[in-house]
Amino acid sequence: MKRPGIRGQLTAWYSLILALSLAAFCCIAYLAMGYSFRQTLQSELTERTEGVRDIIVEDGPQGRAALADELSEFANGLGSGGRLRVTDARGLLFASPGMTKSLEPSGLMTRRPWRQWIDGASFMLLRQNVVVSGTPYDVTMAVATGDFDRTLKRGSTILFAAAPVFLVLAALGGYWMSRRALVPVDQMTRAARSIGAQDLSQRLEVPPARDELARLAETLNEMLARLDSAFRKVTQFTADASHELRTPVAVMRTSAELALRRQRTESEYREALSQILHQTGEVSQLIENLLGLARADSGAAQMQMERTDVGALLADSCDKSKLLAEKQGVTLCRNGLNTPLWVQANAASIERLFTIVLDNAVKYTPSGGRIEVLLNVKDDFAVTEIRDTGIGISPHDLPRIFDRFYRADRARSREAGGAGLGLAIGKWIAEAHEGEIRVESKVGQGSSFEIWLPLAAR
Ligand code: ADP
Repeated sequence: MKRPGIRGQLTAWYSLILALSLAAFCCIAYLAMGYSFRQTLQSELTERTEGVRDIIVEDGPQGRAALADELSEFANGLGSGGRLRVTDARGLLFASPGMTKSLEPSGLMTRRPWRQWIDGASFMLLRQNVVVSGTPYDVTMAVATGDFDRTLKRGSTILFAAAPVFLVLAALGGYWMSRRALVPVDQMTRAARSIGAQDLSQRLEVPPARDELARLAETLNEMLARLDSAFRKVTQFTADASHELRTPVAVMRTSAELALRRQRTESEYREALSQILHQTGEVSQLIENLLGLARADSGAAQMQMERTDVGALLADSCDKSKLLAEKQGVTLCRNGLNTPLWVQANAASIERLFTIVLDNAVKYTPSGGRIEVLLNVKDDFAVTEIRDTGIGISPHDLPRIFDRFYRADRARSREAGGAGLGLAIGKWIAEAHEGEIRVESKVGQGSSFEIWLPLAAR
């Protein structure tokens, strides 16, 4: 079965609670009205009995006949709404019509009033023992309840008939109100539905009132902003990656086409093939880097960490880069601690990080320059510093060199075989080790990269 919408549910709950409250109110009002009528009748009975006592006090000494006359006059004064019966030790003194015999249900003297039908009409009766000058009198007073009964009936009819009408009106009002309250939600749903993957820059309108709906719209807008930024990054990354792959592939294609255009000598074929092989190496490297970053993004690149000596890793990386440096006429020297410095790390990744920074230092330092590698301990971190006397990085480029595909000097970097991914990967490796990579640089003077890795607990 289909669940009713929020509007229906709100109205149903609201109507149910209102129906219960109305029913409780009607019952309480009915009981309170009845109680108040009974109290009024009861005090009237007591008052009239007091009137009879006064007559007995005044006319009792003048004999039974005189007293009976006075009582009869009193009873007449009560009209059709009141009746009276008085007896003394000798028997009946006076009785209104319908009250000639004792009326009390239990036959016992009582101070509590009771109800009874007399001559087809409803009465409330009270029987009391009145003692005047030592002589006991038995006084039964009756008062008609017809008027009160009719008023009570009319009142309760109005109450119980009006309640369902109120209930229906209130339910309709409740439904209308919940509709009004939920209109902004409908608007937001329509707006959110119209936002596609192509126009994530659109935002939902935030209602002016600072309420739950405004907060919902703001939260959705923040989510849209995050999605938009992530989507842009992915699009940019795909575009950059395709662009980077296109160049070496085009070079390979051209080399192959040129080689095949006419008959060539063996050495010419060899040259074409070695050119293609060189480009294949670059493409493989690029794909390797792209895959590494994609795995890092998806969180799939789980690194196996173990206690590792950073000094040993740095020494290995320096030895590998030394050859390249010498070929370029750059001096590479390593200084600093020679005792082991233990960090919790993935050795292959840390070596890769060192190689990225060292290779960059070699790439961007002209012949005759110098690269200095230092290892120190600062604030529970193993800090590797790689300083070069190279071309340096301008303040404009400095904050962006860790971005993917960012190259400060495009021509030179490409010439050196870089795609602008090295430092992005390096940054990710440092952060995966809860460390960081910092840079300082001056154009024309050189750059200094610091790699901070937390020392392992002893
Ligand atoms: P690439 O593969 O192009 O070297 P990286 O991400 O490793 O890419 O570096 C990004 C950019 O930072 C480089 O293109 C270069 O312009 C600049 N850069 C990095 N290291 C140095 C350095 N030691 N000296 C000068 N510029 C550097």
